[in-house]
Amino acid sequence: FATAKGFAQSAEPSERAKVAIVDDAGSHTYADLLQDARKVQRALGNADHKGASIAMLMPNSYEYAAVQWGIWAAGGAAVPLSPMHPERELEYFITNSQAHKIICHPSLLNNVRPVLDRLGGSVKLLDSDAIMTMADVACSDQETEISEGQSALFIYTSGTTGKPKGVVHTHATIAAQVSALYEAWKWTTNDRLLHVLPLHHVHGIVVALCSALWAGATTEMLPRFDKAKVWDRIIDGPQDISILMGVPTMYARLLSAMEAMSPQRQKAARDAMGRLRLTISGSAALPASVFHKWQHATGQTMLERYGMSEIGMALSNDANDPSSRKVGTVGKPLPGVEVRLVDTDGNEVTNVQGAAGMIQVKGPNVFREYYGLPDKTAKEFTADGWFITGDIGTCDADGFYSIMGRQSVDIIKSGGYKLSALEIERELLEHCNVSDVAVVGVPDEEWGEVVAAAVVLRPGASLDMDGLKPWCHERMANYKCPKMVKIVDSLPRNLMGKLDKKAVKALFSN
Ligand code: ATP
Ligand code: MG
Repeated sequence: FATAKGFAQSAEPSERAKVAIVDDAGSHTYADLLQDARKVQRALGNADHKGASIAMLMPNSYEYAAVQWGIWAAGGAAVPLSPMHPERELEYFITNSQAHKIICHPSLLNNVRPVLDRLGGSVKLLDSDAIMTMADVACSDQETEISEGQSALFIYTSGTTGKPKGVVHTHATIAAQVSALYEAWKWTTNDRLLHVLPLHHVHGIVVALCSALWAGATTEMLPRFDKAKVWDRIIDGPQDISILMGVPTMYARLLSAMEAMSPQRQKAARDAMGRLRLTISGSAALPASVFHKWQHATGQTMLERYGMSEIGMALSNDANDPSSRKVGTVGKPLPGVEVRLVDTDGNEVTNVQGAAGMIQVKGPNVFREYYGLPDKTAKEFTADGWFITGDIGTCDADGFYSIMGRQSVDIIKSGGYKLSALEIERELLEHCNVSDVAVVGVPDEEWGEVVAAAVVLRPGASLDMDGLKPWCHERMANYKCPKMVKIVDSLPRNLMGKLDKKAVKALFSN
């Protein structure tokens, strides 16, 4: 299955001695990971769990991986919860996934204890420290029969468009996702990933951690994203990091931290970041301004890719040739993944360059089901088996896709036009006084919807509304220019840096 177990058992002893994960506590080899996963398996009991859901609440650390792999070794399906989730959300994920066991790090017991009390003892609690300090287990112990098609991982969607949905992946769908990335991004055992992403989301778990372990590479984990710590590690640590992955807001923060550095430190930052093999962005639209600033500041041509909880990654710019990457696009289909655009009549959009359509995806990477929602699952697939992503996109003459946004919250219907909020946000971010922006459609009797923008200004900057109008008209068609602008201190973003568009709309509700 898509694990280090495969690597550690098939690898030569010298490869097994390779460092899999480095965290605050030190270095851990693939052999350690296998051993500790076995302890987790033993603690879960000898029954074959046959894809039963087992929740886990762990900090970003080596132990996170040992617990996830241990759940897999026991035949269970891991339901990773985040230390950042409030109690109410933890309760939702635990009950929604029907987990009857939870493995929790001692430092996070207080987060979950009130929830478990409320659930009246129906969920068994296991302490991860107690498990890890158990005596070693013989590696041949209790080999569980695991079929590729059984549940392996529940990933809850970000809840951008409604309640988070429990996306069920099997060992086969995860293996398909990581092997496609392995091939496309040319992972090797020499890669060293700096991991700064939350470990309850497809980006942090699958795209980052599972891919690195699949490749037999080394993952260096920071407890969380912290712009100063990332720069300190990149500049002052060994110059061996080869891959950094982040969401666009992380890169924007790294840039602002870099601006505040002394000229010497800036140069050191540029040299050190410039050495990486790949800096990758995803999970939300990468503003062109961030792409260009990053390139200017570090010499790195950011690789943008597109995916979602349900499909892992589907589209990516090229890993080999930075000059082939196109800003504002998410590249081309990954190996083994089929992507098409479909118009509102259900016809495939072909030969019409730049025409918008619903992005549909087919391939071995696509999830099995939304847990407990058979009707919803059925509704999101076409009769011929394509998954309907809900995202609108375009494709250019060279086959590069661009994301216009989610049909439900990012596509604004105004006076007969369908506008992409993401496209308008990209334009507004070019304004020298704008540091962050969210665009939504606000109901309007005459136009159906009108464009509204919530704007965060740069420190000390102001926005002259009379000046903004002509500035917008120079760059955008009249119907795309915001009719309402609200200055705010910050925008509602979730743990992944994604905008909560319902909350943004509410800003304009009266
Ligand atoms: P929910 O499904 O609960 O409403 P969500 O769709 O935000 O939330 P995720 O699966 O975490 O949950 O996010 C996937 C979505 O993120 C995609 O459908 C797409 O809208 C957006 N996305 C991912 N990568 C990019 C990108 N490079 N550019 C623009 N949007 C992206
Ligand atoms: Mg979604």
